[in-house]
Amino acid sequence: MVSCPDNDIINIGEYLRDIDLAGKTVLVTGGAGFLGSWVCDALMYKGARVLCVDNLSSGAEENIAHLRGKDGFQFIKHDITQPLQPDLKLDLVIHMASRASPFEFERFPEEIIQANTQGTLIALGIAREFGATFLFASSSEVYGDPSLVPTPESFAGNIDPTKMRSCYSVSKRCGEAYVAAFRRQYGLDARVARIFNTYGPRMRADGIYGRAVPRFISQALRGNDITVFGQGRQTRSFCYVTDQVAGLLRLATSPGAEGEVVNIGNDTEITILETAEMIKRLTGSQSQLAFYPLPEDDPIRRCPDIGKARRLLGWEPRVGLEEGLRKTIAWFDGAVQ
Ligand code: UDP
Repeated sequence: MVSCPDNDIINIGEYLRDIDLAGKTVLVTGGAGFLGSWVCDALMYKGARVLCVDNLSSGAEENIAHLRGKDGFQFIKHDITQPLQPDLKLDLVIHMASRASPFEFERFPEEIIQANTQGTLIALGIAREFGATFLFASSSEVYGDPSLVPTPESFAGNIDPTKMRSCYSVSKRCGEAYVAAFRRQYGLDARVARIFNTYGPRMRADGIYGRAVPRFISQALRGNDITVFGQGRQTRSFCYVTDQVAGLLRLATSPGAEGEVVNIGNDTEITILETAEMIKRLTGSQSQLAFYPLPEDDPIRRCPDIGKARRLLGWEPRVGLEEGLRKTIAWFDGAVQ
């Protein structure tokens, strides 16, 4: 049930048709997570060998079950904050391991800081040992609550380090600082993706792991109340997973992107209320919207400036919100959630 639609993988392959990954060996930390498992799928489709490392804290073995046993795919259950000695010669290291749901920030702040700091340091050390390219999965959270929207990479950020979300936002900033240090000190070819809100099949809807889109879909399909926080006036810009993965892999492999920091996301901004209403309409649900208090520190607006990705990577999102939501709803409808 959790393997993703075949045509989605073909679409990613199409987006990466000018990129040669055949025979390359890639370490993906967090490879059993929502995004990480899609990255593993895309790499395998492109003929790469994949070493997938995950401690299964928020990722799930079932996300990669269809890859287990395939030639060129290896899974190691391991916490990347602890030393790791891969026995394959690596060409590329993609560090994606971290819990990412705001509800988890409350429960696991120390673990999150460790994954983004110590985990990044260990993953960088592995890349350095093999002379591999490094891609760090950073986040739009490094901007905090930005005063400049759409937000370009040059915006330095607006963050109070004592707030709830700071375990994530500040540790992603620290991870970026480690990447910059390895670039300067050791000449490592290291790149940073600032990932904006992404959704699609395999995203968790349950409890503290659920983000707005999968929660709303699951609530709508079950006829439960759709839980809008605040008045729903805050905005996000939702990127369908195939676009995100294509952007990440173009950034990891494009010759002109060495050492660059690039926003990857969709630049169509929408309020959370409009998102909830759209999901209600697309599911044909009778659910009611129910309003709950806005969590502390919830950014008011979020939308990337993706001019740099367009110029540098020849990339922009191809899947509109309604199309992406329809695909995601179809997957949730078929999945046992
Ligand atoms: N949100 C909501 N209801 C939910 C979950 C989230 O209204 O059940 C809001 C949340 O407050 C935020 C937005 O939706 O403003 C996006 O939340 P999400 O957890 O998807 O990611 P974030 O962008 O906050 O990291």
